[in-house]
Amino acid sequence: KESGTRENNVAKIKVVVRKRPLNKKETARKEDDIVTVFDDSCLAVHEPKLKVDLTAYVEKHEFCFDAVLDEHVANDEVYRVTVEPIIPTIFQRTKATCFAYGQTGSGKTYTMKPLPLRAAEDLVRLLHQPVYRNQRFKLWLSFFEIYGGKLFDLLSDRKKLCMREDGRQQVCIVGLQEFEVSDVQIVKEYIERGNASRSTGSTGANEESSRSHAILQLVVKKHNEVKDTKRNNDGNESKSGKVVGKISFIDLAGSERGADTTDNDRQTRIEGAEINKSLLALKECIRALDNDQIHIPFRGSKLTEVLRDSFVGNSRTVMISCISPNAGSCEHTLNTLRYADRVK
Ligand code: ADP
Ligand code: MG
Repeated sequence: KESGTRENNVAKIKVVVRKRPLNKKETARKEDDIVTVFDDSCLAVHEPKLKVDLTAYVEKHEFCFDAVLDEHVANDEVYRVTVEPIIPTIFQRTKATCFAYGQTGSGKTYTMKPLPLRAAEDLVRLLHQPVYRNQRFKLWLSFFEIYGGKLFDLLSDRKKLCMREDGRQQVCIVGLQEFEVSDVQIVKEYIERGNASRSTGSTGANEESSRSHAILQLVVKKHNEVKDTKRNNDGNESKSGKVVGKISFIDLAGSERGADTTDNDRQTRIEGAEINKSLLALKECIRALDNDQIHIPFRGSKLTEVLRDSFVGNSRTVMISCISPNAGSCEHTLNTLRYADRVK
């Protein structure tokens, strides 16, 4: 039985903040960059405020996290700080989760997109190492979305999926397609295909993806020789093999969407309420994990229910909080940093 010790001295929960650079629009509007990164773990937000007599002043808010990445940090470095240390633990029965949290436009997708590819590269390389070579380990990939509390397969024409809990309280997503990935080029294609079929809503606006959580999973399975061949032929691949460990990459819905509960449009309100619920439930689950609580409130939302098996046993969580630097985003930035602060 696993002891639950922290392999490779990787912390169970890591909270990282990433600040993006000012974009062209913000620069053209001459917006101030109000976020100062002091060092690799602390930052300050300079909130522009007005006194009653309308004189301007600045309120300074300081925060410290496990890591703070400024606007000059490239995606490769993000990978090294967040996901790379977890990779070896996947072979030691760890279920890892890497979230990107933040308002729409803060860099969640920019941050998350390259991570599974890099992770797959490292996982495939480890699979072929002498220690693991004879264990019949294989890497599998799936990619789905939670939109308005419903699940859709992003690699299977947005087929609607449902979730089931088996007798051993294992969560199973019925019908979710899993693909064996033996080289990274294929992983890249799946990521692109999945991203292209993310929610676009009735308006066709890409904006709509900000109302959905996208979940990409890389699963290492151990395969039994005989069963494996048989099952591969009937196309029921997802059931073959025993899960060794996995890592889920989650591009969360825009955090500001949780406030859509007063919108004029009924559908938007419903979706807003669902997002609000899932982001709150997520925070509660991570906090419970951090306190080694026995009871994890995963039933709080579809998102946390789907992640149930990643919240028990040997789990690792990395929260990447993405923030915009411009003065106009100050309120959202503070909300994101407070959320990240509460997680730890
Ligand atoms: P989100 O997914 O949170 O809505 P995006 O990832 O789509 O935000 O980022 C919004 C825009 O900002 C995109 O055009 C993206 O390319 C750009 N961007 C985000 N983060 C960075 C960064 N660290 N460096 C350069 N450009 C970035
Ligand atoms: Mg996005």
